[in-house]
Amino acid sequence: MDGSTPDSLLIELKRLQAAQARSTLGYADRIADLKRLRAAVKSRAEDIVAATSADFGRRSRHETLLSDVMTVLHDIDYTLKNLKRWMKPRRVSTSWQFLPGRSEIRFQPVGVVGIISPWNYPVNLALMPLVAAIAAGNRAMLKPSELTPRTSELLKAMLAEVFPSDQVCVVLGGPDVAAQFSTLPFDHLFFTGSTSVGRIVMQAAAKNLTPVTLELGGKSPAIIAPDYPMTTAAARLTAGKFLNAGQTCIAPDYILAPADQISALTQALRKELSERYPSLRSSVDYTSIATDRHYLRLQQLLEEAQAGGAQIIQINPANEALDPANRIFPPTLVLNPPAQSRLMSEEIFGPILPILPYRSLDEAIAYINDHDRPLALYHFDLDSERTKRVLDSTIAGGVTINDCVLHIAQSALPFGGVGPSGIGHYHGHHGFLTFSKQKPVFYQARWSSLSLLKPPYRNFADRLIAFLTR
Ligand code: NAD
Repeated sequence: MDGSTPDSLLIELKRLQAAQARSTLGYADRIADLKRLRAAVKSRAEDIVAATSADFGRRSRHETLLSDVMTVLHDIDYTLKNLKRWMKPRRVSTSWQFLPGRSEIRFQPVGVVGIISPWNYPVNLALMPLVAAIAAGNRAMLKPSELTPRTSELLKAMLAEVFPSDQVCVVLGGPDVAAQFSTLPFDHLFFTGSTSVGRIVMQAAAKNLTPVTLELGGKSPAIIAPDYPMTTAAARLTAGKFLNAGQTCIAPDYILAPADQISALTQALRKELSERYPSLRSSVDYTSIATDRHYLRLQQLLEEAQAGGAQIIQINPANEALDPANRIFPPTLVLNPPAQSRLMSEEIFGPILPILPYRSLDEAIAYINDHDRPLALYHFDLDSERTKRVLDSTIAGGVTINDCVLHIAQSALPFGGVGPSGIGHYHGHHGFLTFSKQKPVFYQARWSSLSLLKPPYRNFADRLIAFLTR
């Protein structure tokens, strides 16, 4: 439904709510739905590649297949394998005073959920929450990003084929529609996007007391220990940072490196980048910046940092002239970035990698703790004591040790931010729980011990209470 108005969106929500009230989607329905969704994504893999590439200008085919297709297929497979167990009511212990009663937790769909998604992994970030919502038996309305219009159209057409229109529907539109969307009285609103818009979404949801999951952004640090091999760190940081040209919420935003290793690290990064992207103009593996606005912003961040005294190292191995119209932004290392610059205060979200020197691990930890709690933290270290110290003394949404980004790919790990980088979790079982009401139920037995404790209270009650409060 396009050309949405607040009324038309509400009518759509009510239609889904009525369908949810009419019929509960049981285990067999959910499995069938997920299998149909899986088949649809798999059969459209090349359409997804084409649409995302057209939307970005140039988007690595392999990265689309890995990050927007494979991730979703794997998440569906993991869910198919485990859903029966997740749905089973869970028996929990009952306090002895209430025996022989018993207690259990039942998992019920919350109802109709809203999903707002961004442009950077436009299929993954729309469908992964949908998989969790479907697994938990909900109906869903999605609002994908306006900045990837072809992919959003593709999602809409694909989901209309997979699901009846009163089970899943896709609303297209920009910030206006998104703002109206977030005022709808959903049973849960799942938002992925920037921290600034996340704040607005949470305020809108608060009016309806709609619970939110906010998957937001932030500046994710990477610390390298003094004796960690710089070539290994450089290879793994290059993979995590320059995937999707740095347009990744959990990309390492900046590096904290031992002061005396900066030169070795810079060399190693230059070598890695030159080998991976020998020609920026013709390398189909190097993704462009999604829009002119984002491209311009990255340029401004760099110019401002340079004016403040930073040293800029652009890795353009073939020394090619790059037409800004193609939005190919060269991999860029930044040394000595000014502390107060936008580069060091805003999430970069592009292929610019500042490198900050530290002299002691305490200094690196203090720098991280002086800033907002990040979505991700990376620590490269072969010493387990030091690693434990970093883990214990910092708070981040998620962590990968001795690599980047890979915690997101572990189906059994919860994914989500903390503080300004997000609220709540999903992926696998955690997504199922996010979209379920965990309903606690106590079953009283034929005989209840409470029958011994009733007015008029007398001596026996005094003795019993004295015993219970001993
Ligand atoms: P964005 O916040 O600009 O937009 C995200 C979505 O919000 C879009 O669908 C947009 O239409 C919608 N929107 C815009 N204005 C709105 C409003 N007033 N009310 C409600 N919705 C509104 O984010 P973006 O630029 O598309 O994505 C980049 C940001 O997303 C980065 O900060 C990145 O870190 C973050 N991100 C986070 C994750 C995560 O999993 N934590 C994943 C990807 C991206």
